[in-house]
Amino acid sequence: MSDILWFDPGLCLIGGDWVPARDGGTLPLTDPSDGSHLARIARGRGADIDAAVGAAQAAMDGPWGRMTALERGRILTRIGQAVLERADALAAIEARDVGKPLSQARADAVALARYMEFYGGAADKLHGETIPYLEGYTVYTLREPHGVTGHIVPWNYPMQIIGRSVGAALAMGNAAVLKPAEEACLTALAFAHIAVGAGLPAGALNVVPGLGAEAGAALTAHPGVHHISFTGSVRTGALVQAAAAANVVPVTLELGGKSPQLVFDDADLEAALPFLVNAGVQNAGQTCSASSRILVQRGIYDRVRAGMADAYADLTVGPAIADMRLGPLISARQKAIVEGFLTQGADLTVAATGRLMPDAPETGAYVLPTLFADVPHDHVLARDEIFGPVQVLIPFDDEADALRIANGTDYGLVASVWTRDGARQMRLARALKSGQVFINNYGAGGGVELPFGGVGKSGHGREKGFEALYGFSTLKTVAAFHG
Ligand code: NDP
Repeated sequence: MSDILWFDPGLCLIGGDWVPARDGGTLPLTDPSDGSHLARIARGRGADIDAAVGAAQAAMDGPWGRMTALERGRILTRIGQAVLERADALAAIEARDVGKPLSQARADAVALARYMEFYGGAADKLHGETIPYLEGYTVYTLREPHGVTGHIVPWNYPMQIIGRSVGAALAMGNAAVLKPAEEACLTALAFAHIAVGAGLPAGALNVVPGLGAEAGAALTAHPGVHHISFTGSVRTGALVQAAAAANVVPVTLELGGKSPQLVFDDADLEAALPFLVNAGVQNAGQTCSASSRILVQRGIYDRVRAGMADAYADLTVGPAIADMRLGPLISARQKAIVEGFLTQGADLTVAATGRLMPDAPETGAYVLPTLFADVPHDHVLARDEIFGPVQVLIPFDDEADALRIANGTDYGLVASVWTRDGARQMRLARALKSGQVFINNYGAGGGVELPFGGVGKSGHGREKGFEALYGFSTLKTVAAFHG
């Protein structure tokens, strides 16, 4: 690991200083491609979070808090350029740390750079308004930062999620305390080194690795935190919201989904097939917006099933550095979760699986991508988020049937509709309970610019695009009476 790390992974960034956890605690990191030991990170706890929140508040009270939006934007843009220059190095680290195939890890680094560029450019574009009011008044609004923002990031897309949440928060002039997932800390630390090197003032960004139940819980409960952004499971999201409620601070929750693609008889199947498969198996299915339900009209069902089965036959799973379509899952724990779901699918028909690369280490957290056919819409595999490379094919009769099934889970993050019928496209775009709807595509190339977030158990609040800037700021109304 020392060959690809240019920094000490065992430290926290607090107030511009790289320091060990106050009690000296550390945690081991494992390479999920072979189960080998990678490095030790700091095990931050309440005292470290307390220091980081204090440093963030000091930054708000100091030069960072007084900096113009133009200057903040320039710093973020410089960070973006520096990230881009180190994209290969970041990808090498991410591949080892989270098991992401190298080219997908590189795409995440490029997306992180893009978030910094986007929010660097946007920093001085958001402003208040003047409001026509009673005679003798001038009324206007000011967009102001919340202050200290807490960011709890999961392990599936560390760089992208840091980009979208920390990038937007800094652009609006907030200071940030980042708690990365204990299983995926290294690119968060690398990013912080790059940001400091690009001129981000001390305390504007603080990073405290550690366990969710320790550092994460301390951050969400801290009375000095004024906004919390969380991405992860529904269970932990509910804990985060409860902790934030005690301090009456706003929360953005992005909690995953069970996202459907609706394929109608008139769809362009050749165009749809790559999206139907890739949206389910990308990042080995460990994607909040993974499309794990493929709803297909009966007239085209057999062709979709055969086409997807052919595509699955080409899916190879292997170590991240071998750069196959799929790497391992994040951990042996996540592998056990996904295998538990596969066991629950024992009564179902397996339409296709991928294959394991010869010589893939037996100690890696590998799961073969698996496509189930003819799955009842209320089966557990069609209802619950699996967070592994598992997709279910569900037949439907007509538009009403498709909509009922699509809206029939607790989640609502992303949906897509494959049809040439323009009126149906418009009807379903409105009727689907989902934060995003794609028509004849899925994911729209990542969409840094596109507001993202869910309804129902998928969470609330929006990140990405300009919308995130509203979430990471508060609005003050000034009413001046001058006669
Ligand atoms: P969690 O929701 O527990 O973890 C997400 C983040 O929250 C991590 O940084 C974690 O830290 C932190 N965390 C954990 N407990 C607390 C707490 N009490 N207070 C504050 N922060 C906390 O997800 P898991 O890693 O346990 O994964 C379990 C399942 O969650 C997956 O199988 C998947 O279904 C779902 N998930 C969804 C994601 C999404 O993108 N929507 C992302 C990740 C998981 P740490 O990891 O250090 O404990």
